[in-house]
Amino acid sequence: MQLNDPALFRQKAYINGEWCVADAGATNAIRNPASGETIAAVPDMGADETRRAIAAAGAALPAWSAKTAKERAAILRRWFELILASQEDLAKLMTLEQGKPLAEARGEVAYGASFIEWFAEEGKRVYGDVIPSPAGDKRLIVIKQPVGVTAAITPWNFPIAMITRKVGPALAAGCTSVVKPAEATPLCALALAELGARAGIPAGVLNVVTTARPAEVGGELTANPIVRKLSFTGSTPVGKRLMAQCADTVKKVSLELGGNAPFIVFNDADVDAAVRGAIASKYRNAGQTCVCANRLIVQDGIYDLFAEKLAHAVREMKVGDGLEPGVQIGPLINEAAVHKVERLVDDAVDKGAQAIVGGAALNGNFFAPTVLTGVTPDMLVAQEEIFGPVAPLFRFKTDEEAVALANNTRYGLAAYFYSRDIGRVWRVAEQLEYGMVGINEGMISNEVAPFGGVKESGIGREGSHYGIEEYLQIKYLCLGGM
Ligand code: NAD
Repeated sequence: MQLNDPALFRQKAYINGEWCVADAGATNAIRNPASGETIAAVPDMGADETRRAIAAAGAALPAWSAKTAKERAAILRRWFELILASQEDLAKLMTLEQGKPLAEARGEVAYGASFIEWFAEEGKRVYGDVIPSPAGDKRLIVIKQPVGVTAAITPWNFPIAMITRKVGPALAAGCTSVVKPAEATPLCALALAELGARAGIPAGVLNVVTTARPAEVGGELTANPIVRKLSFTGSTPVGKRLMAQCADTVKKVSLELGGNAPFIVFNDADVDAAVRGAIASKYRNAGQTCVCANRLIVQDGIYDLFAEKLAHAVREMKVGDGLEPGVQIGPLINEAAVHKVERLVDDAVDKGAQAIVGGAALNGNFFAPTVLTGVTPDMLVAQEEIFGPVAPLFRFKTDEEAVALANNTRYGLAAYFYSRDIGRVWRVAEQLEYGMVGINEGMISNEVAPFGGVKESGIGREGSHYGIEEYLQIKYLCLGGM
C-alpha cells in the first residue's frame, strides 16, 4: 500500500497503547470492494481480548477524567490537526477498504475530523446548575460527570466519521473508549488510533478491537459491567439486540440505526434545486448512507419533469473504482449488498415499475445508478432500506397524501422536502415524524447540529451540544446545615 506515511497502515489491534495480535493468532482478510483483492489482514479477536481492552479503558479512566477539559482539549486538538494533515492517506485507505470515490473520502476525513475539533471545545462548556433551594439551610447543585468507560460499535459506510462522532464527545467529556469497527473497514479505525497516539492520547484511553466475530466482541462489550455506555451505529435489528443485551447491566445507550428517508418534491419546488438535492442525497456513497433519500415522493404536476431531469443527470454519472479520477459511483460494499439491491429492483419491476435509467447489476460489486418510475407502496423498495444507487419515484396529489406516505414507515431518521410556500414549509416540517428534516436541502449533516432519529431509527443524538450529553451523567449535590 502506497501511503505518504506508511505507519498509518496498521494491521494490528490497539489495546492499552500497544499494537496487538489476536490471542489465537487468527486474522480477518480485508478486501478492496472495487477489485475483490485482499489488501490487509487484521486480528480476529474475541471476548478475552475485548475484556482486556475494557480493563485498560477502566484503568485509564481516573487519570483521564481528572485532567481538566482544557488539557483534554489540547490533546484532541492535536489529534484533529494530525487527521487533517493525513487527509490524503486516510482518504486513500478509506477508498481502498470501503470503495467510495476519493473526493468523497477526502470529504469524510474533513467531516470526521470536525467532530474532534468541535467536541474538544465543547468539553470546556459542560456546565452544571445551581437550583434555588426550597429550604433556607440547604443549597442544591447539579454537576455533570463523565459516564465512565464507553463502547462504540460502528458500521462500514463511514469508516472515520462514525468513530469520531462517538469518540470525540466521549474523550472530551472525560470518558475512555473501546471501539469495535466494522469487519470490512478496520484500517481507517487503526490509522485514527495511530494518529491519536501521536497526539498524546494516553494508553488505554482509546482502544480499537478488530474482529470477524462481532457477536462475540459485542457480547463482552454489552455484558461487562465496567462499560457504562454503548454507542452503536448500524442496522435496526442489531441495534435492538444490543439494546436488549445492555439491559442486564442497565447501560446508557445511544443508537443510530437504519432509515427510510422520504424526499418530497412539491409542485411549487425549484425543480433544478430538487434534482441537485436528490443527486446529493441519493447517490452519495453509492446510496449506502443511512440518511439517503430512499423514497422520492413527487407531486403530480411536476412528476414527469422531475423524472426526466433526474434521469438525465443520473445517466451522466461515472461508475468505477473510487481511485479513478472523475468517478462518482463506486462499488457496493460486497456481493451480498449487490444481490439485495438487485432483489429490490426486480421486485419493483415485476410489480409494474419502470427502470428509466439503469436497473441492473454490473460486473463485480458495481450496480448501475438507477431511476425507477411508477413505484407504489406495495413494492419492497418502499419499505426496506435500499442501500444502493436506486431512486424510486412515487406520485402524490395532496399534501396530506405526501405526509401520510412519508410517515408510513417504522423508521424516522432523515426526511427532505422541496417547496417555496412558507406556510407549507412550516406545516410539513412539523408533520414529518423524523429526527432531521432537510428543507430545500439534500445535505444536512455537520458537527454543530444534532444528528439522530425517532421511532425505530434510534435513541440519542450525535454532534452539537446535545451530543456531549450522551457521555455525561447528572449528579445532584444537596448541601445542608447552612
Ligand atoms: P450492521 O448492523 O450489520 O453492523 C454495524 C456494526 O455492528 C458493525 O461493526 C458490525 O460488526 C456490528 N455487529 C453486527 N452484528 C453484531 C452483534 N451481534 N453484536 C455486536 N455487534 C454486531 O450494519 P452495517 O451493515 O455495518 O451498516 C449499515 C446500517 O447502518 C444501515 O442500516 C444504516 O442505515 C445504518 N447506519 C445508521 C447511521 C445513523 O447514524 N443512523 C449511520 C450509518 C449507518
